[in-house]
Amino acid sequence: MKILDIDFKIIQDSRGKDTLEAELRADFSRKSVFSLRKSALACASVPSGKSTGTHEAFVLEPKKAVKKFKEIKPQILSREFDSQEEFDNFLIQLDGTPNKSNLGGNLILSLSLAFARLKAKSENLELFQYICSILRPPQDLNIRPCGGLITRPIFNVINGGAHATNKESKLDFQEFQVISQVEDFSVAFSVGKIFYRKLGDYLRGKFGAENVVLGDEAGYSAPFKNNEEALDCLVEVIKKYNYPLRIGLDMAASQFFKGDYYLIGNKKYSAEELKNYYLKLIETYNILSIEDPFFEESFEDFAKLNVDLSGRLVIADDLTTTNPKRLKIAVEKKSGNAILIKLNQIGTLTETLKVVKMAYENNWRAVVSHRSGETLDDFIADLAVGINAWGIKAGAPAKPERLAKYKRLLEIYSKQNNKNKI
Ligand code: PEP
Ligand code: MG
Repeated sequence: MKILDIDFKIIQDSRGKDTLEAELRADFSRKSVFSLRKSALACASVPSGKSTGTHEAFVLEPKKAVKKFKEIKPQILSREFDSQEEFDNFLIQLDGTPNKSNLGGNLILSLSLAFARLKAKSENLELFQYICSILRPPQDLNIRPCGGLITRPIFNVINGGAHATNKESKLDFQEFQVISQVEDFSVAFSVGKIFYRKLGDYLRGKFGAENVVLGDEAGYSAPFKNNEEALDCLVEVIKKYNYPLRIGLDMAASQFFKGDYYLIGNKKYSAEELKNYYLKLIETYNILSIEDPFFEESFEDFAKLNVDLSGRLVIADDLTTTNPKRLKIAVEKKSGNAILIKLNQIGTLTETLKVVKMAYENNWRAVVSHRSGETLDDFIADLAVGINAWGIKAGAPAKPERLAKYKRLLEIYSKQNNKNKI
């Protein structure tokens, strides 16, 4: 595929921070003989994290990134790229650093994702089909058992830790999620949406409307006095209406790790004490999944907890940072059974899909995730479906940047269901 032009815009993410949007134009008129279209456009923008892992790809300040881009633009435009891998590897080589600190992971990712959209168009594929075709042999495209559950929505309904926006919140854990037990995406989404509204009513009744605001990922932020209080509220509303929901948590524990102990409330915990605290919570609240329960270098502590949890998900995020070298260690040490997949942690679609493949080959599950600072880009919806992810974290069903992902998932759901009816 020959790229005819590339343009960059600096846009604002959901926290009002500058971020990049790439626009690529390519010519594939030869391939679309039935269409009048001679060239096609595709855009992609990049999100940003707040509780970021140390091993994530480097984020270059957007204005500097645009300047850097102008230097490499002629090199990209002077070549043809036959595949995603070829394009992404070209950028990786141009960058020449292990963590993309020369061009910036954000610059590289926006180009990589916009390229994917264009390449999918040139092959007349939906983006999720294109992603699927990279991960699996093409003949599998039509036999994917998408059915109703294209992926599982994981709603982050209470925002704590670094994502809390209510200054009185004492939540150490970052995400209090509900996960639907219904095997149909559209129903699962509706249940999550209704639950989210009922929880809002409940919290406004408990704390007063003026004290309940939305956190970074559109979950509620309120003056909870501790983690148990938030969990009790979830259980109360789930039980009251008998919703088919289980609870998930992202502790983002690096945020409350203080060098040689963990601080929860004003109590210090060793790793062993913290593990026992988690085991109690998991049993009391019948918790289905936990993410980043320990500091981002604590492969062994993750493994000890993983041994004790059968049938639950132990998800690695800051621990693995969508990085094959980190995942290899985590697999060897048995530090979990699921990996969080964030495109901008590694910086290209090709590398992301290699990590997913490695996870699947080792019987780990994959959960695709947004970032706390998001744009309206919905790429992760197609990514979740394309890799057949166990679930997707796209926040609470509110705020345009979160709803964009759910909207695309519902669109894919209806395409899949209509196809299945034929
Ligand atoms: C997370 O920790 O899973 C997350 C989405 O937060 P952030 O984007 O701030 O890293
Ligand atoms: Mg996380």
